[in-house]
Order: sequence, then C-alpha cells, then structure tokens
Amino acid sequence: MAVQKRTSTNVLLHTALQNFYSAAEEMGLEDGLVEVLSRPERAICVSVPVKMDDGSVRVFNGYRVQHSTVCGPAKGGLRFHPDVNLEECEALASLMTWKCSLAGIPYGGGKGGIAVDPFELSPREREMMTRTFAARIAPFIGDWTDVPAPDVNTGGPEMVWIMDTISKLRGKLEPGVVTGKPITYWGSKGRTAATGLGVSTCVLELLKRKGIDPKDATVIVQGFGNVGHYNALFLQQAGCKIVGISDITGGYYNPKGIDVVAAKAHVEKHPKRILEGYDEPGLQKMDGNAILEQECLVLSPCALEGVINEKNAGKLKCKYIVEGANGPTKPEGDKILDERGILVVPDFLANSGGVIGSYFEWVQDLAGFFWTEEEYNSRLVPIMKDNFKRVWDYAEEHNVKMRRAAFLVAIKRVADGLRTKGFFL
Ligand code: NAD
Repeated sequence: MAVQKRTSTNVLLHTALQNFYSAAEEMGLEDGLVEVLSRPERAICVSVPVKMDDGSVRVFNGYRVQHSTVCGPAKGGLRFHPDVNLEECEALASLMTWKCSLAGIPYGGGKGGIAVDPFELSPREREMMTRTFAARIAPFIGDWTDVPAPDVNTGGPEMVWIMDTISKLRGKLEPGVVTGKPITYWGSKGRTAATGLGVSTCVLELLKRKGIDPKDATVIVQGFGNVGHYNALFLQQAGCKIVGISDITGGYYNPKGIDVVAAKAHVEKHPKRILEGYDEPGLQKMDGNAILEQECLVLSPCALEGVINEKNAGKLKCKYIVEGANGPTKPEGDKILDERGILVVPDFLANSGGVIGSYFEWVQDLAGFFWTEEEYNSRLVPIMKDNFKRVWDYAEEHNVKMRRAAFLVAIKRVADGLRTKGFFL
C-alpha cells in the first residue's frame, strides 16, 4: 500500500511534513519507515490550572510531543507563548529529531510548551504554572526518557522549577531531567558560548575547505546577542576580519575591522545592553537591513528568522552564508542564493553547538562530575568539525546543497536505527 501522506493546516507542520516526504523519496526510504517517522511517537496534552493572585483560577493548555526516541531520550525546548499548539510542537519536535541525529548525539527529538503570555503573569503565578505543568508531564519526562530545555520565553528559572518539582515527586535529586540550568544548579560551564563557538567552527571549516586563510576572510555577523557575539569573537580570535555587526539598533560597518571586544564592552555597559552609541575609528552606522548587503566573504545571520528572502537575496555581496539563527533564510531566498552560487551552511548544522552543549550538561549531571570550560570547548569543537565533514562529504558525493545533505544524513541515522531496532514499543 502506498504511503498515506499527512497534511496539516498548520504551516510549520505542513512544511516539516512536506520536507520530510520529499527527502524520504529522494533517499528511497521504505514506505513503512516513512509512515513511522512522519508521526510522533507520543503527544501529550495537559491542562494546567493556576490559582491567580486575585484568587481566580485560570487553566492553560500545555503540550509535550516526543517525535522520536530511536537514538535516545527525546530532547528539545519548552516555550511559553500564546501561539503554542499541538501541531507546532509536533513540527518542532520532528526538527529536533533531525538536529540531534545530525549532531551525532544520543538523543531523539521532543518539543513542548504552554499557550500563555508569560509576561501577563506575576512571578508567583509563573512559578506555579511551570511547576504544575512539570507535575502533569512528570510520568513522561526524565533523564533517560525526555529531557526538556529552555526555548522562547523560558530559561534558567523555569528549568530549576521543573528540576525541583520532578525531584520532589521522585524523592531524589533529578538534575538530568532538564538542561539549560544555571551553573549553581547543576548547569555547565561553557554552555553560554557553545552555540557561537559551533557557528564559528563551521565558518573556519568552510574556509579550510575553500583554501582561504582566515586572515583573508571578511565577515559580517547579524545579531550581537548570545550567538552572534560569541561567533564574531571566536572568528576574530582566529584571525578573521569582522567588518560588520548589527543588533536591534542597526548595522555597524568598518572595512578596517571592528573591535569585537570593545563593542561587547560597550554593550555590557549600556543600560539596555545594545550597540547604540558604539563608535571606533572608521565605523559607519547604517540601517540593519543594509548591513546584510555590504561586501564580505562570509555573512552569518545570528538574529532572526526569514531575514534572507526574495527581496534581498539577489543583492547580497557575500560568497558564503553560515546560519547561526534558526531559519534565517526563506525558501524563496534560498532558491536565489542557489542560482547565484552562494554556498549556505544550514542552521541545523551550524547552530547545533547549542544542543551538543546541552548534551554535555546532561552527561555531567548524570556523572555528578563537572568539567572546566576548556574541557567543554575542547570536546565541542571536534564534534562540530566531524559533523561539518559528514555533511560536506555527503553534499560533494551526491552533488546536493548542504541543507539537503544535512537533512538526508540526519534521516539516514534514525532510519538505520529503526531498521535495527524494529518498532516494538
Ligand atoms: P539573543 O536574544 O541573545 O540575541 C539576538 C540578537 O539579535 C540581539 O543582539 C538583538 O538585538 C538582535 N536583533 C534583534 N532584532 C534584530 C534585527 N532586526 N536586526 C539585527 N539584529 C537584531 O538571541 P540568541 O540566543 O543569540 O539567538 C539568536 C538566534 O539563534 C535565534 O534564531 C535562536 O533561535 C538561534 N539559536 C540560539 C541558540 C542558543 O544557544 N542561544 C541555539 C540555537 C539557535
């Protein structure tokens, strides 16, 4: 019987399914595996009642979807946002399966969250909501079953509340049930810089493959937050010239090279932690979109999704794009880049330092033994290099773009696991 292709009215899920079906067809995946991998293993819906500060009771909808546990415990974030729904969680959980598979770490994919605007809640309401949610999904999460992490509007405090709730329910400390915890609560040194370190490693690997000395490379980094700043810093340390940076306040271009350390020091001192007012000899201030269109060898978008699109892809003056942000290139933009011969290192390879870093936190939690930052970084870089090589080699061998190659490599690992393991439970 032919595969019953699923569709969805949810754009994210529909796109995830179509991408999967087309990749599965290209790699000749058996119908049975296509049927299995196009569905989540488990989707949990819970109601989350909270007694509000004014004495009323509100009930929020919470979700946790485990797309696959073939390669290990489900792994993926929890987001608190009014738009969270089951289909979105399903789509994002499947993307986590492929991301973890590509990263070569022993995890499957999961995602979850609560449909809520957390900024409408008081700190007490927010804590009670998080703890009740944790208690209701408690039978399904754990260090060897499903390990949530921060995502949109969640962070260290939420992870600590979840860890504490699960620990109290089980009568023992459960630090490995979530990652993204503060260092004082079983978090890990090195995690803050991990994603940026991974992105910069991909840039340097790309330069190596192209025979370009980092000293001859000019780079523009969009976004000067966690990912963008560390990416720019590590590239500068490797000898690259960072000719452009940007943040919410616009673009900062300097053909002589920006002093990333001085720019960061400025941000640290600014009350809103932004680049506004930053200056140095030769610096030109420009519009945030214009910076993307300046001359450089490598453009690394590390801020928002959809910033490279049908409007600007034809105007970019870079040769290579290394995606630090999630989904910075729209499919329409991707097509134009392809026609123009601009090589793209895709997000789920380039920014996987984040989830590899989470894996390191979990490993340390399970062992109860913590690494130095140097140990953490010295383990991250070789994994990133190895993953880059696998995707690069596959793309060369099969004459496909790196984005396609990354997806095919990722699906293959899970499919191989399923063939070996079978479908029992
Ligand atoms: P962040 O909030 O620390 O930084 C975001 C930066 O983007 C800020 O400097 C902000 O000013 C800037 N920005 C916002 N709007 C902008 C605009 N219009 N033009 C230019 N800059 C703009 O966020 P982050 O953690 O660095 O995440 C950035 C991206 O990387 C997101 O897509 C995120 O999903 C992805 N990502 C992050 C991690 C991680 O570990 N932090 C891991 C994987 C992927």
